[in-house]
Amino acid sequence: MQAEIVTIGTELLLGEIVDTNSAWIAQQLTGIGLDLLYTTTVGDNLGRITQVLSQSLERSDVVITTGGLGPTVDDMTRQGVAAATGRELILDEDLVTEIATYFGRRGFQMTDNNRRQAFIPSGARIIHNPVGTAPCFAVEHEGHLIICLPGVPHEMRHLMNAEVIPLLRERFGLLGVISSRVLRTCNIGESAVDAQIDDLMSGANPTVGTRAHPGQTDVVVTAKALTLEAARAMIAPVEAEIRRRIGDHVFGTDDETLGQVVLRELSARGLRLAVAETYTRGEVAQQLAQQAQSGAFAGGVLLTDVASLLAMAEAEVDGGLLFASQQAADLAARQVARVYDAQLGLAVIAPEDFAIDEAPTAFLALYTDGQTLTVAPRRVRTGAVGRSWLIFQGLDLVRRHLLGLPQLA
Ligand code: ATP
Ligand code: MG
Repeated sequence: MQAEIVTIGTELLLGEIVDTNSAWIAQQLTGIGLDLLYTTTVGDNLGRITQVLSQSLERSDVVITTGGLGPTVDDMTRQGVAAATGRELILDEDLVTEIATYFGRRGFQMTDNNRRQAFIPSGARIIHNPVGTAPCFAVEHEGHLIICLPGVPHEMRHLMNAEVIPLLRERFGLLGVISSRVLRTCNIGESAVDAQIDDLMSGANPTVGTRAHPGQTDVVVTAKALTLEAARAMIAPVEAEIRRRIGDHVFGTDDETLGQVVLRELSARGLRLAVAETYTRGEVAQQLAQQAQSGAFAGGVLLTDVASLLAMAEAEVDGGLLFASQQAADLAARQVARVYDAQLGLAVIAPEDFAIDEAPTAFLALYTDGQTLTVAPRRVRTGAVGRSWLIFQGLDLVRRHLLGLPQLA
């Protein structure tokens, strides 16, 4: 079964808003086993909307549109569908009442403009919209189905979940489920992950694929089956094999973040961690602060120079201290733990100033049990990607320490 999405709105073409509807709908369609073949964006122009919809209806079993269902003259999806399917627009009195009630309940009077919304292509099946005024509808046309949803993302998502997905399952006999398991890895690049599991990636069901994020690579195992249990049973042995190969680079599954995992392991041991960082713009602390409820994140500081480091340390160093040095990282890790009264202190230190073509060297240190644990200085790539790598390497130092895993050289 082949599907396509048409998003309608001139603002989308102008780049004033980003088309998030397509991405979200695409995920839902994949989840019920529909193959998405095209995504098209078209402006608020009746001729072009009609042309796009005619073409879509010819080549796809189901077409889902968003946008252009509002009350204003530039909302032209209704006319476009009518033209593309050779139907008339007719006023649906029940819809008029429904829209009037929607406004009445909110203390507003329905305008003539809103009446416009109650015109729908003849023979269309109405999809009631309890979360907005734009009535939605589905039209069967020569064995193809077009479903028109509002542009406002929360209305669209509600209608997809409550009405459209069940309708599609029934109409196309989509009984199966698709289940995915995400294994989240850090401190290893996508190509290194690929190299270890590439023979597993040619399977058809389950499929195995990778998704790279800066400093982090997801391995996604997806199975299609009749029931969720069956899909999970197909995923389990593949997951076990991937774990066997990638080993302790896997820090978590599905939506888990490295920050969550670190905090969970700290909490389980009744420990608290404080963070001192440069270069990473406070993002190591942010990763932990996002889940601060646990109390395992004691606090963090953003250091900008040697003076602030020494001030925090209440230390004076004879002969000067190079800011980006292992010695500075060790000192910062120890002192930040002391300042925040935490058992562990993590320092992630790299110079803020460096020539654009020169990769900075970063120094990581973890203070714990009266000792400072370090890993080898790292050359970081510049820019946002380099920062992400460093953030994950810092957090992974803590994770590996807590779990008794070997540190990466
Ligand atoms: P309304 O009745 O609210 O006018 P509508 O169906 O006419 O609904 P549009 O006017 O096209 O929808 O869009 C309403 C708003 O929804 C837009 O201003 C925009 O913020 C958001 N929106 C529309 N299309 C998209 C899209 N493809 N992705 C993300 N947001 C969108
Ligand atoms: Mg509108």
